Amino acid sequence: MTLPNALPAQADIVIIGAGIQGCASAYYMAKAGMKVVLLDKSRVAGQQSSRAWGFVRVQMRDPDEIPLMEEGKRIWRGLEAELNADLEWNEGGALYASGSQSIAAYREKWFESAKSFDLDTRLLSVAEVKSLLPNLASPIVGGLYTKSDGHAEPRKAAPAFAARARDLGATILEGCGALSIERTAGRISHVVTEWGDVKTGLVLLCAGATSWRLLQPLGILLPQSFVRASVARTNILPPITDAAFVGDGIAFRRRSDGSLNIASSMHGDVDVTLDHIRLTRWYWSAYRDSAKGLTLHVGGPLLRDFAKRLPWQDGAQFPAIGDREPDILPAQQRLRDAVKLLERAFPTAGRIGLAEQWAGNIDTLPDGIPVIDAPSNLPGLLVATGFCGHGFALGPVIGKTMHALAQGKETGFNLRAFRLSRFAEGDVKQPLSIW
Ligand SMILES: Cc1cc2nc3c(=O)[nH]c(=O)nc-3n(C[C@H](O)[C@H](O)[C@H](O)COP(=O)(O)OP(=O)(O)OC[C@H]3O[C@@H](n4cnc5c(N)ncnc54)[C@H](O)[C@@H]3O)c2cc1C
Repeated sequence: MTLPNALPAQADIVIIGAGIQGCASAYYMAKAGMKVVLLDKSRVAGQQSSRAWGFVRVQMRDPDEIPLMEEGKRIWRGLEAELNADLEWNEGGALYASGSQSIAAYREKWFESAKSFDLDTRLLSVAEVKSLLPNLASPIVGGLYTKSDGHAEPRKAAPAFAARARDLGATILEGCGALSIERTAGRISHVVTEWGDVKTGLVLLCAGATSWRLLQPLGILLPQSFVRASVARTNILPPITDAAFVGDGIAFRRRSDGSLNIASSMHGDVDVTLDHIRLTRWYWSAYRDSAKGLTLHVGGPLLRDFAKRLPWQDGAQFPAIGDREPDILPAQQRLRDAVKLLERAFPTAGRIGLAEQWAGNIDTLPDGIPVIDAPSNLPGLLVATGFCGHGFALGPVIGKTMHALAQGKETGFNLRAFRLSRFAEGDVKQPLSIW
Protein backbone atom coordinates (compact mmCIF):
# COMPACT_ATOMS: atom_id res chain seq x y z
CA MET A 1 0.00 0.00 0.00
CA THR A 2 1.55 3.31 -1.08
CA LEU A 3 0.73 6.54 0.73
CA PRO A 4 0.36 10.09 -0.59
CA ASN A 5 3.60 11.20 1.06
CA ALA A 6 5.43 8.71 -1.20
CA LEU A 7 4.92 11.08 -4.14
CA PRO A 8 8.31 12.50 -5.16
CA ALA A 9 8.45 16.24 -5.90
CA GLN A 10 10.47 15.68 -9.06
CA ALA A 11 11.24 12.91 -11.56
CA ASP A 12 13.12 12.44 -14.84
CA ILE A 13 9.89 10.96 -16.22
CA VAL A 14 6.34 10.48 -14.98
CA ILE A 15 4.59 7.47 -16.53
CA ILE A 16 0.79 7.61 -16.40
CA GLY A 17 -0.81 4.15 -16.36
CA ALA A 18 0.66 0.92 -14.97
CA GLY A 19 -0.52 -1.50 -17.64
CA ILE A 20 2.05 -3.48 -19.56
CA GLN A 21 3.19 -0.43 -21.57
CA GLY A 22 3.79 1.62 -18.44
CA CYS A 23 5.42 -1.20 -16.43
CA ALA A 24 7.73 -2.31 -19.28
CA SER A 25 8.73 1.30 -19.96
CA ALA A 26 9.38 1.91 -16.26
CA TYR A 27 11.64 -1.16 -16.18
CA TYR A 28 13.81 -0.21 -19.17
CA MET A 29 14.03 3.41 -18.04
CA ALA A 30 14.90 2.56 -14.42
CA LYS A 31 17.47 0.05 -15.69
CA ALA A 32 19.11 2.88 -17.62
CA GLY A 33 19.31 4.95 -14.43
CA MET A 34 16.38 7.31 -14.98
CA LYS A 35 14.41 8.54 -11.97
CA VAL A 36 10.98 7.09 -12.79
CA VAL A 37 7.60 7.75 -11.20
CA LEU A 38 4.89 5.34 -12.44
CA LEU A 39 1.32 6.27 -11.43
CA ASP A 40 -1.87 4.31 -11.65
CA LYS A 41 -5.28 5.60 -10.60
CA SER A 42 -6.08 2.03 -9.59
CA ARG A 43 -3.44 -0.71 -9.50
CA VAL A 44 -0.69 -2.39 -11.50
CA ALA A 45 -2.23 -4.28 -14.45
CA GLY A 46 -5.76 -3.73 -13.18
CA GLN A 47 -7.23 -3.25 -16.65
CA GLN A 48 -6.51 -4.75 -20.08
CA SER A 49 -3.02 -5.98 -19.29
CA SER A 50 -4.19 -8.69 -16.86
CA ARG A 51 -7.38 -9.54 -18.78
CA ALA A 52 -5.89 -10.39 -22.18
CA TRP A 53 -5.96 -13.85 -23.75
CA GLY A 54 -2.16 -13.84 -23.76
CA PHE A 55 -1.45 -14.35 -27.47
CA VAL A 56 1.97 -13.14 -28.60
CA ARG A 57 1.67 -13.26 -32.36
CA VAL A 58 2.85 -11.67 -35.54
CA GLN A 59 0.23 -13.69 -37.44
CA MET A 60 -2.65 -11.57 -38.86
CA ARG A 61 -1.09 -8.40 -37.45
CA ASP A 62 -1.25 -5.09 -39.27
CA PRO A 63 1.86 -4.95 -41.51
CA ASP A 64 2.88 -1.62 -39.92
CA GLU A 65 3.33 -3.46 -36.60
CA ILE A 66 5.25 -6.46 -37.94
CA PRO A 67 8.82 -5.14 -37.45
CA LEU A 68 7.99 -4.17 -33.85
CA MET A 69 6.40 -7.55 -33.16
CA GLU A 70 9.29 -9.52 -34.64
CA GLU A 71 11.69 -7.68 -32.33
CA GLY A 72 9.12 -8.08 -29.54
CA LYS A 73 9.17 -11.86 -29.91
CA ARG A 74 12.96 -11.84 -29.64
CA ILE A 75 12.58 -10.02 -26.30
CA TRP A 76 9.86 -12.41 -25.07
CA ARG A 77 12.17 -15.38 -25.62
CA GLY A 78 14.62 -14.06 -23.04
CA LEU A 79 12.17 -12.25 -20.80
CA GLU A 80 11.74 -14.83 -18.03
CA ALA A 81 15.51 -14.85 -17.53
CA GLU A 82 15.75 -11.06 -17.79
CA LEU A 83 12.99 -10.46 -15.21
CA ASN A 84 13.75 -13.57 -13.16
CA ALA A 85 10.04 -14.46 -13.27
CA ASP A 86 7.80 -17.24 -14.54
CA LEU A 87 5.64 -15.65 -17.25
CA GLU A 88 4.30 -18.97 -18.64
CA TRP A 89 6.04 -18.14 -21.91
CA ASN A 90 5.23 -20.88 -24.43
CA GLU A 91 6.62 -20.62 -27.95
CA GLY A 92 4.00 -23.05 -29.21
CA GLY A 93 3.15 -21.17 -32.42
CA ALA A 94 -0.08 -19.58 -33.60
CA LEU A 95 -2.43 -21.81 -35.55
CA TYR A 96 -5.57 -20.48 -37.20
CA ALA A 97 -7.85 -23.09 -38.80
CA SER A 98 -9.99 -21.74 -41.64
CA GLY A 99 -13.52 -23.14 -41.69
CA SER A 100 -14.67 -21.54 -44.94
CA GLN A 101 -13.28 -20.31 -48.23
CA SER A 102 -14.04 -16.70 -47.30
CA ILE A 103 -12.06 -16.92 -44.04
CA ALA A 104 -9.23 -18.67 -45.88
CA ALA A 105 -9.23 -15.93 -48.54
CA TYR A 106 -9.09 -13.21 -45.85
CA ARG A 107 -6.06 -14.89 -44.27
CA GLU A 108 -4.39 -15.50 -47.63
CA LYS A 109 -4.75 -11.80 -48.41
CA TRP A 110 -2.96 -10.96 -45.15
CA PHE A 111 -0.30 -13.59 -45.94
CA GLU A 112 0.39 -11.91 -49.30
CA SER A 113 0.61 -8.47 -47.65
CA ALA A 114 3.13 -9.77 -45.10
CA LYS A 115 5.37 -11.64 -47.57
CA SER A 116 8.03 -8.93 -47.75
CA PHE A 117 8.77 -9.36 -44.01
CA ASP A 118 10.28 -12.80 -44.39
CA LEU A 119 8.20 -14.32 -41.58
CA ASP A 120 8.04 -18.03 -40.82
CA THR A 121 4.25 -17.91 -41.39
CA ARG A 122 2.89 -20.64 -43.69
CA LEU A 123 -0.45 -21.33 -45.33
CA LEU A 124 -1.43 -24.88 -44.41
CA SER A 125 -3.36 -27.49 -46.36
CA VAL A 126 -6.15 -29.42 -44.66
CA ALA A 127 -3.78 -32.37 -44.17
CA GLU A 128 -1.16 -30.13 -42.57
CA VAL A 129 -3.70 -28.66 -40.13
CA LYS A 130 -4.84 -32.19 -39.26
CA SER A 131 -1.29 -33.31 -38.63
CA LEU A 132 -0.85 -30.46 -36.11
CA LEU A 133 -4.34 -30.92 -34.64
CA PRO A 134 -5.17 -34.63 -34.97
CA ASN A 135 -8.23 -34.27 -32.71
CA LEU A 136 -9.86 -31.40 -34.57
CA ALA A 137 -13.34 -32.50 -35.65
CA SER A 138 -14.49 -29.22 -37.31
CA PRO A 139 -14.68 -29.11 -41.10
CA ILE A 140 -11.82 -26.96 -42.41
CA VAL A 141 -10.46 -25.80 -45.77
CA GLY A 142 -6.92 -24.93 -44.62
CA GLY A 143 -5.03 -22.88 -42.08
CA LEU A 144 -2.37 -20.33 -41.23
CA TYR A 145 0.55 -21.16 -38.96
CA THR A 146 3.46 -19.22 -37.47
CA LYS A 147 5.78 -21.53 -35.58
CA SER A 148 7.71 -18.75 -33.82
CA ASP A 149 4.59 -17.12 -32.30
CA GLY A 150 3.62 -17.99 -28.75
CA HIS A 151 1.73 -16.97 -25.66
CA ALA A 152 2.27 -15.92 -22.05
CA GLU A 153 0.28 -15.18 -18.89
CA PRO A 154 -1.02 -11.59 -18.74
CA ARG A 155 -1.53 -11.73 -14.97
CA LYS A 156 2.20 -12.26 -14.55
CA ALA A 157 3.95 -10.13 -17.19
CA ALA A 158 3.18 -6.51 -16.23
CA PRO A 159 3.55 -7.21 -12.47
CA ALA A 160 6.95 -8.83 -13.15
CA PHE A 161 8.10 -5.72 -15.06
CA ALA A 162 6.78 -3.55 -12.20
CA ALA A 163 8.56 -5.61 -9.53
CA ARG A 164 11.91 -5.38 -11.33
CA ALA A 165 11.43 -1.66 -12.04
CA ARG A 166 10.83 -1.13 -8.30
CA ASP A 167 14.00 -3.12 -7.49
CA LEU A 168 15.86 -0.73 -9.79
CA GLY A 169 14.56 2.32 -7.93
CA ALA A 170 11.35 3.25 -9.77
CA THR A 171 8.60 4.74 -7.59
CA ILE A 172 5.32 2.98 -8.36
CA LEU A 173 2.20 4.53 -6.88
CA GLU A 174 -1.15 2.74 -6.97
CA GLY A 175 -4.36 4.64 -6.27
CA CYS A 176 -2.75 7.88 -7.47
CA GLY A 177 -4.39 9.19 -10.64
CA ALA A 178 -2.97 11.84 -12.93
CA LEU A 179 -5.37 14.78 -13.21
CA SER A 180 -3.54 16.79 -15.88
CA ILE A 181 -0.33 17.16 -17.84
CA GLU A 182 0.97 20.73 -17.61
CA ARG A 183 3.21 22.85 -19.85
CA THR A 184 5.37 25.87 -19.18
CA ALA A 185 6.64 27.89 -22.13
CA GLY A 186 5.49 25.18 -24.53
CA ARG A 187 7.35 22.31 -22.80
CA ILE A 188 6.11 19.66 -20.40
CA SER A 189 6.81 20.95 -16.89
CA HIS A 190 4.77 18.91 -14.39
CA VAL A 191 1.98 16.44 -13.76
CA VAL A 192 -0.89 17.25 -11.41
CA THR A 193 -1.91 14.12 -9.52
CA GLU A 194 -4.49 13.29 -6.88
CA TRP A 195 -1.68 13.43 -4.33
CA GLY A 196 0.04 16.64 -5.52
CA ASP A 197 2.33 17.83 -8.30
CA VAL A 198 5.45 16.17 -9.72
CA LYS A 199 7.92 18.34 -11.63
CA THR A 200 9.26 16.65 -14.73
CA GLY A 201 10.44 17.38 -18.24
CA LEU A 202 9.10 14.07 -19.60
CA VAL A 203 5.68 12.42 -19.41
CA LEU A 204 4.79 9.05 -20.90
CA LEU A 205 1.04 8.73 -21.31
CA CYS A 206 -0.08 5.10 -21.50
CA ALA A 207 -3.39 5.23 -19.64
CA GLY A 208 -5.17 2.66 -21.80
CA ALA A 209 -8.72 3.40 -22.93
CA THR A 210 -8.88 6.76 -21.14
CA SER A 211 -5.61 8.25 -22.42
CA TRP A 212 -7.56 10.65 -24.63
CA ARG A 213 -8.93 12.37 -21.52
CA LEU A 214 -5.47 13.68 -20.63
CA LEU A 215 -4.74 14.79 -24.20
CA GLN A 216 -7.97 16.71 -24.76
CA PRO A 217 -7.07 19.62 -22.42
CA LEU A 218 -3.77 19.93 -24.33
CA GLY A 219 -5.78 20.48 -27.51
CA ILE A 220 -4.74 17.10 -28.94
CA LEU A 221 -7.29 14.97 -30.78
CA LEU A 222 -7.30 11.22 -30.06
CA PRO A 223 -10.53 9.47 -31.14
CA GLN A 224 -10.07 6.61 -28.69
CA SER A 225 -12.94 4.31 -27.83
CA PHE A 226 -13.43 0.81 -26.43
CA VAL A 227 -15.02 -2.59 -27.05
CA ARG A 228 -15.87 -5.06 -24.26
CA ALA A 229 -14.32 -8.50 -24.73
CA SER A 230 -15.07 -11.55 -22.57
CA VAL A 231 -12.77 -14.42 -21.62
CA ALA A 232 -13.07 -17.59 -19.52
CA ARG A 233 -10.74 -20.12 -17.96
CA THR A 234 -11.75 -23.75 -18.29
CA ASN A 235 -11.10 -26.64 -15.96
CA ILE A 236 -7.89 -28.60 -16.54
CA LEU A 237 -8.17 -30.49 -19.84
CA PRO A 238 -6.24 -33.14 -21.73
CA PRO A 239 -3.69 -31.40 -23.99
CA ILE A 240 -5.09 -30.17 -27.34
CA THR A 241 -2.26 -28.02 -28.69
CA ASP A 242 0.45 -25.71 -27.42
CA ALA A 243 -0.33 -23.26 -30.22
CA ALA A 244 -2.42 -20.14 -29.71
CA PHE A 245 -5.48 -21.38 -31.60
CA VAL A 246 -8.23 -19.59 -33.54
CA GLY A 247 -10.89 -21.49 -35.48
CA ASP A 248 -14.54 -22.49 -35.59
CA GLY A 249 -15.55 -19.29 -33.79
CA ILE A 250 -13.27 -19.75 -30.79
CA ALA A 251 -9.82 -18.71 -29.63
CA PHE A 252 -7.85 -20.40 -26.89
CA ARG A 253 -4.43 -20.92 -25.40
CA ARG A 254 -3.27 -23.55 -22.95
CA ARG A 255 -2.16 -22.21 -19.58
CA SER A 256 0.70 -23.89 -17.77
CA ASP A 257 -1.68 -25.73 -15.39
CA GLY A 258 -3.48 -27.39 -18.33
CA SER A 259 -6.59 -25.18 -18.30
CA LEU A 260 -7.47 -23.03 -21.31
CA ASN A 261 -8.12 -19.32 -21.69
CA ILE A 262 -11.04 -19.39 -24.11
CA ALA A 263 -13.09 -16.71 -25.87
CA SER A 264 -15.29 -16.18 -28.86
CA SER A 265 -12.91 -15.25 -31.70
CA MET A 266 -15.62 -13.34 -33.53
CA HIS A 267 -17.74 -11.45 -31.01
CA GLY A 268 -17.36 -8.40 -28.84
CA ASP A 269 -19.77 -5.96 -27.22
CA VAL A 270 -20.04 -2.20 -27.51
CA ASP A 271 -21.71 -0.64 -24.46
CA VAL A 272 -22.71 2.58 -26.14
CA THR A 273 -21.83 5.66 -24.04
CA LEU A 274 -21.92 9.37 -24.82
CA ASP A 275 -18.30 9.08 -25.98
CA HIS A 276 -19.18 6.36 -28.50
CA ILE A 277 -21.83 8.66 -29.91
CA ARG A 278 -19.37 11.58 -30.01
CA LEU A 279 -16.95 9.41 -32.02
CA THR A 280 -19.50 7.93 -34.44
CA ARG A 281 -17.95 9.52 -37.51
CA TRP A 282 -14.60 7.86 -36.75
CA TYR A 283 -15.97 4.38 -36.16
CA TRP A 284 -18.99 4.17 -38.42
CA SER A 285 -17.33 2.10 -41.12
CA ALA A 286 -15.44 -0.13 -38.66
CA TYR A 287 -18.67 -0.92 -36.80
CA ARG A 288 -20.48 -1.52 -40.09
CA ASP A 289 -17.73 -3.84 -41.43
CA SER A 290 -17.61 -5.86 -38.22
CA ALA A 291 -21.38 -5.68 -37.71
CA LYS A 292 -21.67 -9.45 -37.39
CA GLY A 293 -18.98 -9.50 -34.72
CA LEU A 294 -20.02 -6.55 -32.57
CA THR A 295 -23.21 -6.35 -30.55
CA LEU A 296 -24.24 -2.79 -29.73
CA HIS A 297 -25.92 -2.31 -26.34
CA VAL A 298 -27.89 0.93 -26.32
CA GLY A 299 -29.89 1.92 -23.24
CA GLY A 300 -28.61 0.92 -19.80
CA PRO A 301 -24.92 1.78 -20.39
CA LEU A 302 -25.83 5.14 -21.94
CA LEU A 303 -28.10 6.09 -19.03
CA ARG A 304 -25.50 5.02 -16.46
CA ASP A 305 -22.82 7.02 -18.29
CA PHE A 306 -25.07 10.07 -18.38
CA ALA A 307 -25.86 9.75 -14.65
CA LYS A 308 -22.15 9.50 -13.76
CA ARG A 309 -21.48 12.82 -15.46
CA LEU A 310 -23.96 14.78 -13.38
CA PRO A 311 -21.91 17.46 -11.60
CA TRP A 312 -22.81 16.29 -8.07
CA GLN A 313 -21.69 12.67 -8.71
CA ASP A 314 -18.47 11.43 -7.10
CA GLY A 315 -15.59 11.90 -9.50
CA ALA A 316 -17.52 13.95 -12.08
CA GLN A 317 -15.18 16.88 -11.40
CA PHE A 318 -12.14 14.73 -12.32
CA PRO A 319 -12.73 13.67 -15.93
CA ALA A 320 -9.16 12.38 -16.31
CA ILE A 321 -9.88 9.71 -13.71
CA GLY A 322 -13.34 8.63 -14.88
CA ASP A 323 -14.25 5.22 -13.54
CA ARG A 324 -11.39 4.13 -11.30
CA GLU A 325 -12.43 0.46 -11.26
CA PRO A 326 -15.04 0.01 -14.00
CA ASP A 327 -17.37 -2.91 -13.42
CA ILE A 328 -16.90 -4.83 -16.69
CA LEU A 329 -19.22 -7.81 -16.90
CA PRO A 330 -18.41 -10.84 -19.06
CA ALA A 331 -20.94 -11.92 -21.70
CA GLN A 332 -21.76 -15.21 -19.98
CA GLN A 333 -23.93 -16.72 -22.70
CA ARG A 334 -21.26 -16.02 -25.31
CA LEU A 335 -18.71 -17.82 -23.16
CA ARG A 336 -21.03 -20.80 -22.66
CA ASP A 337 -21.46 -20.87 -26.45
CA ALA A 338 -17.67 -20.80 -26.87
CA VAL A 339 -17.41 -23.85 -24.60
CA LYS A 340 -19.98 -25.71 -26.70
CA LEU A 341 -18.02 -24.84 -29.84
CA LEU A 342 -14.84 -26.09 -28.19
CA GLU A 343 -16.50 -29.38 -27.20
CA ARG A 344 -17.71 -29.77 -30.78
CA ALA A 345 -14.32 -28.88 -32.32
CA PHE A 346 -12.29 -31.13 -29.98
CA PRO A 347 -14.60 -33.92 -28.71
CA THR A 348 -11.65 -35.75 -27.11
CA ALA A 349 -11.39 -32.91 -24.58
CA GLY A 350 -14.49 -34.34 -22.91
CA ARG A 351 -16.97 -32.26 -20.97
CA ILE A 352 -15.63 -28.78 -20.36
CA GLY A 353 -16.41 -26.63 -17.33
CA LEU A 354 -15.70 -22.97 -16.69
CA ALA A 355 -13.61 -22.13 -13.64
CA GLU A 356 -13.58 -18.35 -14.06
CA GLN A 357 -14.95 -15.60 -16.34
CA TRP A 358 -13.97 -11.99 -16.84
CA ALA A 359 -14.09 -9.15 -19.36
CA GLY A 360 -12.01 -6.12 -20.29
CA ASN A 361 -12.47 -2.94 -22.25
CA ILE A 362 -10.18 -3.12 -25.28
CA ASP A 363 -9.06 0.37 -26.27
CA THR A 364 -9.55 1.08 -29.96
CA LEU A 365 -8.47 3.62 -32.55
CA PRO A 366 -10.23 3.99 -35.90
CA ASP A 367 -7.31 2.61 -37.96
CA GLY A 368 -6.66 -0.39 -35.71
CA ILE A 369 -3.05 0.52 -34.83
CA PRO A 370 -1.71 2.31 -31.73
CA VAL A 371 -0.12 5.68 -31.15
CA ILE A 372 3.61 5.31 -30.40
CA ASP A 373 5.06 8.79 -30.56
CA ALA A 374 7.02 11.67 -29.08
CA PRO A 375 5.24 14.51 -30.92
CA SER A 376 7.66 17.30 -31.83
CA ASN A 377 5.05 20.03 -31.28
CA LEU A 378 4.86 19.19 -27.57
CA PRO A 379 8.41 18.62 -26.34
CA GLY A 380 8.60 16.22 -23.44
CA LEU A 381 5.37 14.33 -24.20
CA LEU A 382 5.50 10.63 -25.10
CA VAL A 383 2.42 8.58 -25.93
CA ALA A 384 1.91 4.80 -26.17
CA THR A 385 -1.77 3.95 -26.31
CA GLY A 386 -4.64 2.59 -28.40
CA PHE A 387 -3.31 -0.94 -28.91
CA CYS A 388 -6.60 -2.22 -30.37
CA GLY A 389 -6.62 -5.65 -28.75
CA HIS A 390 -3.03 -6.68 -29.45
CA GLY A 391 -0.85 -4.61 -27.13
CA PHE A 392 -0.03 -7.28 -24.57
CA ALA A 393 2.33 -8.94 -27.03
CA LEU A 394 3.92 -5.60 -27.94
CA GLY A 395 4.47 -4.52 -24.30
CA PRO A 396 8.16 -5.43 -23.96
CA VAL A 397 9.24 -3.88 -27.27
CA ILE A 398 7.14 -0.78 -26.56
CA GLY A 399 8.93 -0.42 -23.21
CA LYS A 400 12.30 -0.42 -24.99
CA THR A 401 11.03 1.89 -27.72
CA MET A 402 9.63 4.45 -25.28
CA HIS A 403 12.94 4.42 -23.42
CA ALA A 404 14.77 5.22 -26.68
CA LEU A 405 12.29 8.01 -27.47
CA ALA A 406 12.65 9.43 -23.94
CA GLN A 407 16.41 9.63 -24.47
CA GLY A 408 16.00 11.16 -27.94
CA LYS A 409 17.70 8.10 -29.45
CA GLU A 410 16.97 6.13 -32.61
CA THR A 411 14.38 3.43 -31.97
CA GLY A 412 15.34 1.29 -34.96
CA PHE A 413 11.73 1.39 -36.21
CA ASN A 414 9.80 3.53 -38.65
CA LEU A 415 7.09 4.90 -36.35
CA ARG A 416 5.44 7.24 -38.86
CA ALA A 417 2.26 5.16 -39.11
CA PHE A 418 1.85 5.45 -35.32
CA ARG A 419 2.12 9.24 -35.06
CA LEU A 420 -0.40 11.04 -32.89
CA SER A 421 -1.06 13.78 -35.42
CA ARG A 422 -2.54 11.42 -38.03
CA PHE A 423 -6.06 11.97 -36.67
CA ALA A 424 -5.87 15.76 -36.81
CA GLU A 425 -4.35 15.43 -40.30
CA GLY A 426 -7.20 13.13 -41.39
CA ASP A 427 -4.62 10.58 -42.60
CA VAL A 428 -6.38 7.51 -41.20
CA LYS A 429 -6.24 4.21 -43.08
CA GLN A 430 -8.82 1.42 -43.11
CA PRO A 431 -8.22 -0.94 -40.16
CA LEU A 432 -7.42 -4.63 -40.50
CA SER A 433 -9.49 -4.88 -37.32
CA ILE A 434 -10.18 -2.30 -34.59
CA TRP A 435 -10.10 -4.85 -31.73
C1 LIG B 1 -10.23 -9.53 -23.21
C2 LIG B 1 -8.95 -9.04 -23.82
C3 LIG B 1 -8.17 -9.92 -24.58
C4 LIG B 1 -6.96 -9.48 -25.13
N1 LIG B 1 -6.12 -10.38 -25.73
C5 LIG B 1 -4.90 -9.99 -26.16
C6 LIG B 1 -3.95 -10.93 -26.65
O1 LIG B 1 -4.22 -12.14 -26.69
N2 LIG B 1 -2.75 -10.48 -27.10
C7 LIG B 1 -2.43 -9.15 -27.07
O2 LIG B 1 -1.33 -8.80 -27.50
N3 LIG B 1 -3.29 -8.24 -26.54
C8 LIG B 1 -4.50 -8.62 -26.09
N4 LIG B 1 -5.37 -7.71 -25.57
C9 LIG B 1 -5.01 -6.29 -25.59
C10 LIG B 1 -4.01 -5.94 -24.50
O3 LIG B 1 -4.47 -6.46 -23.27
C11 LIG B 1 -3.86 -4.42 -24.43
O4 LIG B 1 -3.56 -3.91 -25.72
C12 LIG B 1 -2.74 -4.01 -23.49
O5 LIG B 1 -2.84 -4.68 -22.27
C13 LIG B 1 -2.81 -2.51 -23.27
O6 LIG B 1 -1.91 -2.17 -22.26
P1 LIG B 1 -1.85 -0.68 -21.74
O7 LIG B 1 -0.72 -0.62 -20.78
O8 LIG B 1 -1.82 0.24 -22.92
O9 LIG B 1 -3.29 -0.41 -21.06
P2 LIG B 1 -3.99 -0.99 -19.74
O10 LIG B 1 -3.53 -2.34 -19.40
O11 LIG B 1 -5.45 -0.79 -19.94
O12 LIG B 1 -3.46 -0.03 -18.60
C14 LIG B 1 -3.81 1.34 -18.52
C15 LIG B 1 -3.71 1.76 -17.06
O13 LIG B 1 -3.87 3.17 -16.99
C16 LIG B 1 -4.50 3.48 -15.77
N5 LIG B 1 -5.03 4.84 -15.84
C17 LIG B 1 -6.06 5.30 -16.61
N6 LIG B 1 -6.24 6.63 -16.41
C18 LIG B 1 -5.31 7.01 -15.49
C19 LIG B 1 -5.00 8.25 -14.87
N7 LIG B 1 -5.67 9.38 -15.14
N8 LIG B 1 -3.98 8.28 -13.97
C20 LIG B 1 -3.28 7.15 -13.68
N9 LIG B 1 -3.57 5.95 -14.24
C21 LIG B 1 -4.55 5.88 -15.13
C22 LIG B 1 -5.55 2.38 -15.64
O14 LIG B 1 -5.97 2.22 -14.30
C23 LIG B 1 -4.80 1.16 -16.18
O15 LIG B 1 -4.20 0.41 -15.14
C24 LIG B 1 -6.57 -8.11 -24.99
C25 LIG B 1 -7.37 -7.23 -24.25
C26 LIG B 1 -8.53 -7.70 -23.65
C27 LIG B 1 -9.36 -6.73 -22.81
